[in-house]
Amino acid sequence: MEKISWKTPIVEMQGDEMTRILWDKIKEILLKPHLKLNTEFYDLGLNERERTKDAVTTKAAEAIKKYGVGVKCATITPNVQRVEEYNLSEMWRSPNGTIRAVLDGTVFRAPILVKGITPYVPGWTKPITVARHAYGDVYRSGEIVVSGKAKAELKLTYADGKTEAKTIFDFDEGGGVVQGMYNTNASIEAFARSCFNYALDTKQDLWFATKDTISKLYDGAFKAIFARVFEQYKERFDKLGIKYEYSLIDDSVARVMRSSGGFIWALKNYDGDVMSDMVATAYGSLAMMTSVLVSPDGCCEYEAAHGTVTRHYYKHLNGETTSTNSVATIFAWSGALKKRAQTEGNAALENFAIRLEKATTDCIENGFMTGDLVGIYHGEKPAVKLDSFAFLEKIAENL
Ligand code: NAP
Ligand code: MG
Repeated sequence: MEKISWKTPIVEMQGDEMTRILWDKIKEILLKPHLKLNTEFYDLGLNERERTKDAVTTKAAEAIKKYGVGVKCATITPNVQRVEEYNLSEMWRSPNGTIRAVLDGTVFRAPILVKGITPYVPGWTKPITVARHAYGDVYRSGEIVVSGKAKAELKLTYADGKTEAKTIFDFDEGGGVVQGMYNTNASIEAFARSCFNYALDTKQDLWFATKDTISKLYDGAFKAIFARVFEQYKERFDKLGIKYEYSLIDDSVARVMRSSGGFIWALKNYDGDVMSDMVATAYGSLAMMTSVLVSPDGCCEYEAAHGTVTRHYYKHLNGETTSTNSVATIFAWSGALKKRAQTEGNAALENFAIRLEKATTDCIENGFMTGDLVGIYHGEKPAVKLDSFAFLEKIAENL
């Protein structure tokens, strides 16, 4: 059989530790036998980031901008301990942070559902994708502890010297705390575009929620910008039969709980932080969660939501058997392949990506899985725990 290929390269970013090992194995036994892998390769492993003074990360991000599609392995975000372990000259920034800054994108997290693993909310039979606006608000706020009687004011000074001020509160002797936060029209608009683009790509409804009844100007701005940007997408939404709905955050939470899933839930920074962890936990396992970064102009970078699984890596180095789940990494690849198939109208490639996903979920539905899933699996077939590599071999066999 002729191997499937495509015209424009996919940006491939290798990573660290256990996921780095699984990455090579996935390519070797799941992808290369069927595909002529047209990728532009960047090694984002920590050693290479150190060697290039982290230039490789920026280069990879620029390449995603150029080619439109990327797939990334999990990478180490250095901390003090890693600086020592890898003998780093600097505590390099998180690669995901660097890539997000270049692409100005929004992260969409979606669970991978399989029969036999029931979400804690049993009604959620379809995935709920959470889109978090990862910029500003309380994450970039200024805070002051008020230690006595004081008047707190919000004051704005424009470039031309004009000012606008507002009293927030008159504190008594007991004092308290005060906080000022912000967002920008450009960032909110970029967030809105990423959400509408991703809804079109995945043919799912988009729900957006804030608390604009209480925060009339701040959250009101989010609501208004989304409504204005949506005007440019409305026709395409109508054509696909998908909807954009705005609601209040508390009403939205209630409707999400009662829903059967199958939509994108766009949330402000803090709401997204909290709700993405709740939704991920409810679906069972971080190892079954994919993540895609979508830029406002439609570039997509796919990855697993989990990290490099350090604990398993050191077991592996010790010669011990590991049972690390590679599903989210496989789905990062299938996501990137599907996206490339879409941009090039490549039916054979799309078909392969779908078969790869099915070979993977079938494997678990037939009872073959990694250790992390055994405890939460309640399928008809008895669960068989496989090691990291036997699990991939089993998928290859299915494929
Ligand atoms: P982690 O790699 O996600 O692993 C935490 C624990 O979750 C593991 O020890 C394991 O639990 C379980 N787990 C996660 N993924 C799994 C999988 N695929 N299969 C089976 N079990 C899985 O998080 P971490 O240990 O906090 O971070 C490790 C490194 O990853 C850090 O250097 C961090 O900077 C980096 N990181 C990178 C990204 C990214 O690139 N997007 C994201 C997060 C973290 P058990 O040990 O109980 O089996
Ligand atoms: Mg969180």
